[in-house]
Amino acid sequence: MEIPSHVQSVLRTLEAAGHEAWCVGGCVRDALLGRAPEDWDVTASARPEETLALFGSRAEPTGLRHGTVTVKTEKGPVEVTTYRIDGDYKDHRRPDSVTFTSSLEEDLARRDFTVNAMALSLRGELRDPFGGREDLRRGVLRCVGEPDRRFQEDALRILRGLRFAAALGLEIEAGTAAAMEAHRSLLGEIAPERIQIELVKLLAGEEAPRVLGEHPRVLGVFWPELLPMVGFDQRNIHHCYDVWIHSVTALANVPPVPELRCAALLHDVGKPSTFTLDGEGVGHFYGHAKASVALADAMLRRLRFPNEFRERVVRLVEWHDRDIPRTDKGVRRALRALGEADLRLLLALKRADNLAQAPAYRGRQAEIQEGEAILDKLLAEDACFSLRQLAVRGGDLLALGLSGPAVGEALDWLLGQVVDGALPNEREALLGGLQRRGRGEKP
Ligand code: ATP
Ligand code: MG
Repeated sequence: MEIPSHVQSVLRTLEAAGHEAWCVGGCVRDALLGRAPEDWDVTASARPEETLALFGSRAEPTGLRHGTVTVKTEKGPVEVTTYRIDGDYKDHRRPDSVTFTSSLEEDLARRDFTVNAMALSLRGELRDPFGGREDLRRGVLRCVGEPDRRFQEDALRILRGLRFAAALGLEIEAGTAAAMEAHRSLLGEIAPERIQIELVKLLAGEEAPRVLGEHPRVLGVFWPELLPMVGFDQRNIHHCYDVWIHSVTALANVPPVPELRCAALLHDVGKPSTFTLDGEGVGHFYGHAKASVALADAMLRRLRFPNEFRERVVRLVEWHDRDIPRTDKGVRRALRALGEADLRLLLALKRADNLAQAPAYRGRQAEIQEGEAILDKLLAEDACFSLRQLAVRGGDLLALGLSGPAVGEALDWLLGQVVDGALPNEREALLGGLQRRGRGEKP
């Protein structure tokens, strides 16, 4: 893959001033994989103040302490970081100090994984002192240097490693995998916000199910609620997997929308605590959706997920075990409660949940399809399911003499009538229904 022209011009400017400059890290890895890199990072022998001076008003000192200057280009920002060596790590998070160096190899050596420790020049020269290209070719994720030391320096790398394995479909090399497990408790010292970012990327990864299936105990450091799911036998003919593998399989069957992946992972987290065995020795999980809601809410708060994200996941978890609506009225009610976007996510979750059951019980796909068809039909005919679509407004009710909270209450009641099919969404009919209601008659 070609280095984009705006990045080339940054490299050229640095080289013309007598510095070395390379594309480095994720962009080189992605380019070798034939994937479009998210952003192109540059590493250079130039000191931050030299880069600042060179690019003048286009340069911003975004992370000077770590040697990073952001250069604005017409096609977006490019981060230029000075070759550096990280000092000692005392807190398993960040180096106490960084030292600038004139050696590209030393800069590559501080990087986390071999596949992330390659540099590419303007002339297409690849610097790859740790065999990253060969690891990519063989599909292997391996630490640069000694895994134990690298994870002890910065425990976030453990989760980053699972993320890269999941997103890029890499097998974690045995020594690296063993060190991840051995040092996983150090993740407890990492800021929740940073864990959250890596976790979301991990869950979105194409091979997340395999990686999660292999390393539940790493996630268990910050989400111990997951651990009882692992190996939990459901004792029920509907299920052929334990709760963990069921959840991970459901996750594999939903599209990589972060909230949906999260909901799939957490939808049954309340199962172990609600398990009961009946007289026939069959397992049940009465009220597990509610238990899952409480746990999921706490777990997402702990990792400081944005409120909107958390609320959406929790709503999906709460609804996951309800019957699939397959009538116009049922779908309109669900639309009113969830809105179109969340209802579609819910149907995707239900589809995946069902696909993760025992083979003989995967037959609910047709029901879900039926619900989806009704949803499409209702939307195509512009069915009313929200106050915004209702044929009367608050003003109409004020004119009828209602005031204060009675207005909102009346609007809600009217919407309920329309959604349930008791009144058509027409102004006169709605106002008439409201007046009959006022007189205590049937709408
Ligand atoms: P993405 O495609 O998600 O951006 P990336 O590999 O570019 O992946 P970044 O977090 O953007 O990941 O980091 C850029 C590069 O910096 C990495 O490729 C790696 O070389 C290095 N790096 C980032 N975080 C660490 C870390 N915690 N320890 C060591 N090296 C790191
Ligand atoms: Mg990056």
